[in-house]
Amino acid sequence: MFFFRSIRFRLTLWYLVTLALILLLFSTFIYLTISKRLYAEVDRELLAIAEAVASPTLEPFRRSAPTVLDQILEDFIGPSVADKFVQIADASGKVFSSSTNLQNISLPLDKTSLIISGIGNSTYHTHSNSLRYPIRSITMPIMENGRMVQVVQVGMLLDYTSDILEKLLVIFAVSIPLALIMLWYAGWFLAGRALKPVELITTSARKISAENLGHRLEIINPSDEIGRLAKTFNLTLDRLENAFNRTRQFSMDVSHELRTPLTILRGETEVGLRWGGDADELKKILRSNMEEINRMSDIIGDLLELSRAEEGKLVLDPVPVELHELLQDICTKAAPDAREKRIILDLPNAASLHVAGDPARLQQIFLNLIDNAIKYTPCDGKVSLAVDSEPGWAKVSVTDTGPGIPEADLPHIFEQFYRVDKARNRNDGGSGLGLSMVRAFSEAHGGRVEIFSLPGSGCTFTVFLPLSHSGTNL
Ligand code: ADP
Repeated sequence: MFFFRSIRFRLTLWYLVTLALILLLFSTFIYLTISKRLYAEVDRELLAIAEAVASPTLEPFRRSAPTVLDQILEDFIGPSVADKFVQIADASGKVFSSSTNLQNISLPLDKTSLIISGIGNSTYHTHSNSLRYPIRSITMPIMENGRMVQVVQVGMLLDYTSDILEKLLVIFAVSIPLALIMLWYAGWFLAGRALKPVELITTSARKISAENLGHRLEIINPSDEIGRLAKTFNLTLDRLENAFNRTRQFSMDVSHELRTPLTILRGETEVGLRWGGDADELKKILRSNMEEINRMSDIIGDLLELSRAEEGKLVLDPVPVELHELLQDICTKAAPDAREKRIILDLPNAASLHVAGDPARLQQIFLNLIDNAIKYTPCDGKVSLAVDSEPGWAKVSVTDTGPGIPEADLPHIFEQFYRVDKARNRNDGGSGLGLSMVRAFSEAHGGRVEIFSLPGSGCTFTVFLPLSHSGTNL
């Protein structure tokens, strides 16, 4: 069943049907052309003899006895008349003279031919008879003063013509099926060759599974159709592998992030259950548990926001927001942390710039960046904010004097749970989602975020947000 449905079988079949039709058409054309030429040759010969018999010179001899007629015709026309049947009739169609070879067979003279002869025209007929071959004959009128007086009929056996046409038919009947059998094998072989790369692709593709998504199809000729198909397939595999790896990494990261607070929760709860005697001690444990629960719910909340943003389903509530004011608010919130590390938090005055944005999400963007800057900058450092603009865009940059970010980490810095210092634990680092949220929220506002870092001398994060038309008073 599979065999009949295979492309190879169908290709070969189409190829064969097409060629069979072409061969049939071609051989029919040859047969008809040759047969027409042979009949034309016979008719020309018959006409020449009929004209000779009808010539006025032979008038006195046309009523001779058969043997005499044979002799006269041979003398007058030549030996070519020997195998011809000659018959002469009067105007009513009554035969009054014929050659000797017409004793056993007759040349029929039907009414229609007689009528056509009556108006001076000749007709040709092919009659079958008791002999092996049919007879071809001409019926020609002999006219006198525009009136038919006699009718000459000359016939000949179609032995030569029939033999040639029969042989031709035998040749076609044998050679066409033979050619078709050979063409079937040739077509089968060619289709197999053309489809071989597809077979290879199928075999290699079958070997690729979730465990070895890194395998790629071998591309033999990248510029042909199959090569392009394999290239496209490999690109799809690249994307699939990336998505697969990201999902795997993501589940590992999430489990890892949630395992620690859960372990703490379980440990503290066990301690409380076993030893927690007085109410103060239990309250302390519950407070600590609450912290862990908050931490987990923050992570889950952030992840939800991120996946909504990735799907483009983040609901924003945009209002005109003045950036300098917004940053001042955030600086007020971050000031205690900065003070603790004696870090200067600098926000110079700047021209008023408005963007259309969701204030809560914008706060989150800049709070994350400022928090990070304070967190990763050593004591006595400096975190500077700057608000600026370029055509169509508002730019807010956060620059610190911290350790900066190594070049190799820069492409990954916005990935979820990515941390430069892998050894850093959740207590002194964050959840690893901060920068992913910065990017997701900036993009949800139609903006982007860029990073510039010189390891050893701090880094600058710049957020670009589209300026709202109403409020640019530079
Ligand atoms: P985290 O919660 O770990 O801070 P983020 O997504 O905010 O997660 O940041 C990802 C990583 O980028 C951090 O772990 C840190 O290694 C690096 N990073 C972020 N901001 C800075 C900065 N201002 N200076 C140096 N490294 C930074």
